[in-house]
Amino acid sequence: SSATPLSALSADDLAARLTTVRAAYDELKARGLKLDLTRGKPGSDQLDLSNDLLGLPSSYRDRSGADVRNYGGLEGLAEMREIFADLLGVDVASVVCGGNSSLTMMHQVLTALLLKGGPDSPRPWSQEPVVKFICPVPGYDRHFTMLAELGIEMVSVPMNADGPDVPAVRALVDDPAVKGMWVVPTYANPTGAVCSAEVAAELMAMPTAAPDFRILWDNAYAVHHLTDVETKSADALGLAAASGHPNRPIMFASTSKITFAGAGVAALAASAENKAWYLERLGFAAIGPDKVNHLRHVEFFDDADGVRDHMRKHRDLIAPKFTAVEDALSSRLAGLGIAEWTVPTGGYFVNLDVLDGTASRVVQLAKEAGIALTPAGSAFPHGNDPRDRNIRLAPTFPVLDEVQAAMAGVAVCVELAALESLTRG
Ligand code: PMP
Repeated sequence: SSATPLSALSADDLAARLTTVRAAYDELKARGLKLDLTRGKPGSDQLDLSNDLLGLPSSYRDRSGADVRNYGGLEGLAEMREIFADLLGVDVASVVCGGNSSLTMMHQVLTALLLKGGPDSPRPWSQEPVVKFICPVPGYDRHFTMLAELGIEMVSVPMNADGPDVPAVRALVDDPAVKGMWVVPTYANPTGAVCSAEVAAELMAMPTAAPDFRILWDNAYAVHHLTDVETKSADALGLAAASGHPNRPIMFASTSKITFAGAGVAALAASAENKAWYLERLGFAAIGPDKVNHLRHVEFFDDADGVRDHMRKHRDLIAPKFTAVEDALSSRLAGLGIAEWTVPTGGYFVNLDVLDGTASRVVQLAKEAGIALTPAGSAFPHGNDPRDRNIRLAPTFPVLDEVQAAMAGVAVCVELAALESLTRG
């Protein structure tokens, strides 16, 4: 059915429609739902796919014969590093495998840059009068809260369908206080955007006033395809080296949404100089990583193709949930001119932009109807969405029925908030 944009309705028609939608909302509320679309967590059926890990490893020696139960091996098991190198399209020599969280590795890198500076820093970042980071928005809330926690100022640039907005980035990097930026290159959180090779090449090659400019290239969703098109990530390390800035990118990934979200393996990949710098710092904080967990993952997957096969099983479980989100939004909101949303081909999120000025109201209405949504604005630095229109939907954790019920409710809330706003004149 082709709907009329709400903006084309007369005042009387809008008032009548408000009455109808308010009634639908009251019915929704009366159902006493208790649903949650807030966090991008794997569902328990997804976690079950990796239960064989609980009986592994079957041995305690790695390929080299080292006893993984003991200390040592700071850069991680060679065979685990090979798997990440293959998945990320980088040389195995560039890879470090660590603990269970890539977010922790990002935090370690930032704190080391602040306290010590990087290999090419004139001084530790903390000795600069001000340090700023470029934040593509909407983006990952934990990236932004990490910067806020560390006292790094945030400057936003738009996140486009092919990656960060290059002209906006270029306009900022002639300020020497701008020391770096976040990029989630593949199936970005929350828009699902994939950074093109062209955009990646420009980011790696552009001149920057800071000699130690860093791009924290968080490839958390490199292999998390939702369709049978298995998009390859841009070759950040290769492009950076080719343009004379080998130390600019530091890449991160993990198996958090591949095996167990709380007990996977995280990895970092970077130039030889950056890697040596990272390992030197890490050597003061650890004697070695959890190599038993590395070996368990190596036995479970065998190789990178094992990971790719495993990701297809995830896809089969979660793709229907994304379809349910798309169906609910398009059947109830298409053509009304009050919402736009992404149809991601990978990752964990759907980005919903509602009528300007109504996102907080939508989240509040949903909450009162028992549907928990991520707080409006959380995909922006300091939680401040200047247009109050952005909502991140995370459909993986609830079961399919719940996703359907929650999204039908969200659509009602989106329309009710829009009608309230439009009838207010
Ligand atoms: N980066 C991004 C972009 C994410 O969405 C997430 C998980 N929500 C993480 C990092 C967290 O990764 P890890 O579990 O390895 O710390």
